[in-house]
Amino acid sequence: MNTLLKGKTILIMGVANKWSIAWGIAEACLDAGANLIFTYQGERNLSNLQKLTADLPNISLYKCDVTEDQDIIDLFHNIGNDYGTIHGIVHSIAFAKKEELEGAYYNTSREGYHLAQDISAYSLVAVSRHARPLMKDGGSILTLTYIGAERAVQNYNVMGVAKSALESSVRYLAADLGPENIRVNSISAGPIKTLAAQGVKGFGSILKVYEEKVPLRRAVTQREVGDTAVFLLSHMSRGITGENIHVDAGFHAMGLL
Ligand code: NAP
Repeated sequence: MNTLLKGKTILIMGVANKWSIAWGIAEACLDAGANLIFTYQGERNLSNLQKLTADLPNISLYKCDVTEDQDIIDLFHNIGNDYGTIHGIVHSIAFAKKEELEGAYYNTSREGYHLAQDISAYSLVAVSRHARPLMKDGGSILTLTYIGAERAVQNYNVMGVAKSALESSVRYLAADLGPENIRVNSISAGPIKTLAAQGVKGFGSILKVYEEKVPLRRAVTQREVGDTAVFLLSHMSRGITGENIHVDAGFHAMGLL
């Protein structure tokens, strides 16, 4: 337990189940004393989220499919009415069609390209725009990315390109929102076995490389990402914006493995 986020209201977007990175972040935020608000994409995940949060005090759940502008508008309108001010946002959302996450990148369809960009990168822009009026005391916006944005990672394909756009968006949003003391950063997480990750062909063999070759000789956990998220959401990181922090057991520091 710590008090790094005591008195702060944090919106968490992207909990599908207890394996989600967003859930690891939520647990770390709770241990740091935060008040949490969650979104869910559709009814399918509502019951998961209701079960996960059943024992937590003062939790609110709002629907938000980030492909729907009206959902994003309604989300921040309702949070504004219910809470007035928020201090942080965790954007832990991405999607690409399974068939685009294998084989050659040049086979990416126009529709698949647009879909991956829309959900995985543009959504951060729209969310930041509508969240801004509620971050009256300044704030911290955080998103999740992967090394496939910086390097060509086999099978990551269209998602790697979407993550590059996301990381670039972090820098532009940081420039826009910095004067309002709203910081925008990303965490580049190592591979973690989640629903989304299992859509990438050959995901299991990536985990094996981690165990054998990266500096810490293991994969990272949701909770390790969560602890870095608490740092980025808290006063402790007040001088950091437009940054990408690798929580990947040191993989990014290595040459070709
Ligand atoms: P996850 O548990 O499957 O979470 C992905 C979330 O995105 C789900 O809650 C999903 O909701 C949501 N989502 C997809 N489309 C959406 C939409 N249109 N509107 C609203 N929400 C939508 O997988 P995860 O691995 O924790 O992924 C979280 C983030 O971490 C992603 O950005 C991912 O790229 C990133 N990341 C993951 C890894 C890894 O190895 N796992 C590594 C680095 C970065 P539904 O379930 O309802 O579709």
